[in-house]
Amino acid sequence: MATGEFTSVKSQNELVASEVEVERTALANNPREELEELATFFVDMGVTQELADQVAKQINKSPEEALKVHTSQELGVDTSELPSPLQAALLSFISFAIGALVPLLPYLLGATALWLSLAVTAVALAITGGAVARLTSRPIVQGALRQVGLAVLAAGVTYAVGRGIGTRIS
Ligand SMILES: [Zn+2]
Repeated sequence: MATGEFTSVKSQNELVASEVEVERTALANNPREELEELATFFVDMGVTQELADQVAKQINKSPEEALKVHTSQELGVDTSELPSPLQAALLSFISFAIGALVPLLPYLLGATALWLSLAVTAVALAITGGAVARLTSRPIVQGALRQVGLAVLAAGVTYAVGRGIGTRIS
């Protein structure tokens, strides 16, 4: 999971980097069109054409700044704030390690009932789902229920597939 996260963020960053290169070439080859484009970004924001032209000309004096505005407007990314693949992988690794440990907790504490393990897991999932919803300003209860629902679905599919394969082997 962590390696998947690493590859996913890394390839996304590489995609952005190649788009930035395309934009850099466009800026070098069609400076006039790109200057006009720069001005239209500001017109779209509600700035008058005259002021937009002035702002665009000033920004254009620094090619790197102009490139930044183009990429953030056209690609919707801030190239100075790309996510770190390593950080994403580490976060994913830690959260999966903690996630895998939660169902085992009751057993580690001496309990033997499966339902207790399931209940603890459901509570942990509801808390993380709710926390993620809170961080992304979505309804908390909905986020908590969705997390538990998805886990039940994933567990059900895993169980069904396991049973299916198990009966065929035995
Ligand atoms: Zn452009």
